[in-house]
Amino acid sequence: MRFVQFKENEKGDEIQLGIERRDGGEIIQIEGTMQELIEGGIEMVTSLKKQLDSDPSASDLKVLQRSKVSLVSPITNPSKIIGIGLNYKDGAAELGKAEPKSPIVFLKLPLTISGTGSMLPLPNSITRQVDWEVELAVVIGKRAKNVDEADALDYVFGYTVGIDYTARDIIATNGGLWTLAKNFPGFSSLGPAIVTKDEIIPFNLKLETRVNGAIKQQGNTSNMIFGIQELISYVSKHIELLPGDVILTGTPAGLGVAKNPPEFVQVGDKIECSVAGIGTIVNTATVARETKS
Ligand code: MG
Repeated sequence: MRFVQFKENEKGDEIQLGIERRDGGEIIQIEGTMQELIEGGIEMVTSLKKQLDSDPSASDLKVLQRSKVSLVSPITNPSKIIGIGLNYKDGAAELGKAEPKSPIVFLKLPLTISGTGSMLPLPNSITRQVDWEVELAVVIGKRAKNVDEADALDYVFGYTVGIDYTARDIIATNGGLWTLAKNFPGFSSLGPAIVTKDEIIPFNLKLETRVNGAIKQQGNTSNMIFGIQELISYVSKHIELLPGDVILTGTPAGLGVAKNPPEFVQVGDKIECSVAGIGTIVNTATVARETKS
């Protein structure tokens, strides 16, 4: 099933939970929160599915047309977002880097999360080198600590699309560390929906980034250096994973910084990142407001 979080356009800011019938289709509003659904696990998903299948036109279902809603990120408050660096063979090659011997792990803060349809505020006073990174994002379903690779997929709730925006120049000025370069507001875009793991095989999915309609990245999850099970197992041996946590599994070739001449996100750019079988995130770049608070 496809689960989304959304706001009704005429009802203000309340975030609601919904089932999306298909990518871009009608949304059936359901009770509870995404966090409760994830913690309920695949059993809760199966029971919801049964309910819908047994009576798909039940009059008490609240079905919303897409024109009436705006999606937000399907995950809004995970305990953490785990990033994985240099995890595609083609991606490492275009940067002239050796393939890592073990996963390169970094953290992104939940307050960086935005969703499809959101603006990307460019912190232009600090950086002019914001780059795109389309990624398959794994949503963790159960507490995971010291998990074996063979069992790792048992800990997955589902998958969504992620954009791991990165300010390239800030990495260089911060001792090569990635934290400051990747934690501006809006720099972790997630969405449009979480597709539950029973409906998607994540090992051979096409990924693509388009900027103003021009293709920038094209890759395939089969090109990962460390696979999804390996990443979950490896991370869980160092950092305990909790339901709702997100692992951004790395990005394929086609980064702006690797182009000749280099290309970076400019104000007004429309960035579209897709993973086959999940959907597309659309962000439009604007200038970050420089308010003090
Ligand atoms: Mg990345």
